[in-house]
Amino acid sequence: MFVFDSSYMPDSAPRIVLTTLNAKYIHASLGLRYLLANMARYGGEDLRARTVLREFTIARKPEEISAALLAELGDGSTGEEGAIAPPQIVGFGVYIWNVRQTTEVVRLLKQARPDIKVVLGGPEVSYEWEDQEIVALADYLITGWGDVSFAKLCRALCHDPQPLMKVIAGEQPPLDQIAMPYAEFSADDLAHRLLYVEASRGCPFKCEFCLSSLDKTAWAFDLDSFLAELDTLYQRGARNFKFVDRTFNLKVDASLRILQFFLDRLQADAGAENDLFIHFEVIPDHLPDRLKALIAKFPPGSLQLEIGIQSFNPEVQQRISRRQDNDKSAENLHWLVTQSHAHLHTDLIFGLPGETLESFAQGFDRLYALRPHEIQLGILKRLRGTPIARHSVAHRMHYDPLPPYTAQQTDVVDAATLQRFTRLARYWDLLANSGRFKQTMPLLMAGPSPFAAFLAFPIGSGKAAKRPAASRRKCWWMDCSITSPQHKGKIRMWFAPVCWPTTSPAAPGPILLVCKACSRTGVHQSPNPSGPWPNGKNATTGKSIVPKELCCHEPARPRTARHPGDALRQIQGPPDRRPAGQLPQLVCPGRFSVR
Ligand code: SF4
Repeated sequence: MFVFDSSYMPDSAPRIVLTTLNAKYIHASLGLRYLLANMARYGGEDLRARTVLREFTIARKPEEISAALLAELGDGSTGEEGAIAPPQIVGFGVYIWNVRQTTEVVRLLKQARPDIKVVLGGPEVSYEWEDQEIVALADYLITGWGDVSFAKLCRALCHDPQPLMKVIAGEQPPLDQIAMPYAEFSADDLAHRLLYVEASRGCPFKCEFCLSSLDKTAWAFDLDSFLAELDTLYQRGARNFKFVDRTFNLKVDASLRILQFFLDRLQADAGAENDLFIHFEVIPDHLPDRLKALIAKFPPGSLQLEIGIQSFNPEVQQRISRRQDNDKSAENLHWLVTQSHAHLHTDLIFGLPGETLESFAQGFDRLYALRPHEIQLGILKRLRGTPIARHSVAHRMHYDPLPPYTAQQTDVVDAATLQRFTRLARYWDLLANSGRFKQTMPLLMAGPSPFAAFLAFPIGSGKAAKRPAASRRKCWWMDCSITSPQHKGKIRMWFAPVCWPTTSPAAPGPILLVCKACSRTGVHQSPNPSGPWPNGKNATTGKSIVPKELCCHEPARPRTARHPGDALRQIQGPPDRRPAGQLPQLVCPGRFSVR
């Protein structure tokens, strides 16, 4: 333990501010809490007493963030005439989602107070940092792990000897020498935010698109100590845990103990309202029976598994050094869907070297047939430092030079196809992953290839229509609207078709509509082979198709679920007892009208 003379420090202003811009308020930064928790051990109790943590979101303006930080720091003086003030330090966590805004904040901060020492850390500045503007603006950069090195750097800046180098390779001590950060979660964090926790760091696998492939191995925290920390959090009321372990099921004995920890608490609270929600990231081809046995015991809405499939294409897998037993993965997914209540979030990546649209479609269809609850359609990103860069020349990979460095073109996928896929992924999220449209999705996905069926809908074209200000505030606003000329003026424009079954709006088939006033959907099944919306009227009855046939029928999902467990229970909803294939009775709140 280091002890410092802090008699010259003023009592009020902090000397060190730890800060980052989270993607959303609900994400509480685990990295910053590690730095805070280790400040006393490696920087000294007095520095810890003068360190504060301030989190913002990327939605806030850089000017506001900079002003808030400056107000927090005061003028930097000691309050004693003639005394030399130690430097004030601001440590920024820099990630792919915040690097642009953080660069601006750092610029403003240094403009206003050049004497403030800015220290950077985080994955976005740990590799290929030489040409980064934010690194040029900062005073110091810690690459890799910062748990120990940040505190030591602060100590050196305040107490000498001054560091000689601007870029410092972060120390990577054994995990038992790193203080766990969980006591740094406030009561407010526990009540309103996702709590990130980790039982291990690193990954032994080598998937080349992933930063964790550089780790070479995984390290586990002492499990007894970790579970004791989890228990303290649970006793304090925490119910919402997101494990950031890259491969939760790597060491099955440890996975079993953690699952049993939560099951014990669920059973102890049996009969009482327990809104426990835990999230793990697992590899799909490693699910031994004893792990399955515990997973099967979790009640609906309490367990979410994130399962990266990325690609079912063996050639692509081999090219990017991803080891995955596809048959075993499919078998395990089938078991999870049919035999457990776990909510399954699966991932696919489009744009991997050598992956064509056709081979991706085959993988998608294989995954879709297994019916996981969500399929996230991602596009390859060339993250700084990842080995996927070795394919750039051979596969003519073009990436956006700006974050998030998304693939724009490959030797087998042209730019237009990638753009089309981007739109498709967005609509897939709105329609399939939202869980709102359980009745509608089978209509949209009908055909030998569900991917081809979904791709066949020309989505995302058309201009934003004028809508009443009231509905503009509370509606989904998709960037498509009614483009069929015979319907212009027939239907208020906030009630808009999302998809057509073919490239021609005059073709027969189901039409999906989203009511932008209430966010529910309707499906219009055309009875008329010559066109689904002849003159905006039902061709058989001659009556207007609105509101009855185009009315909303899917249950609405609350827009602001307080935590993912709430949303999940809403998505799963009560069982639908309507006969298969029958479109449900339409219930509409009547917020749309026909002119
Ligand atoms: S994708 Fe998953 S399994 Fe592969 S290296 Fe990254 S964390 Fe490990």
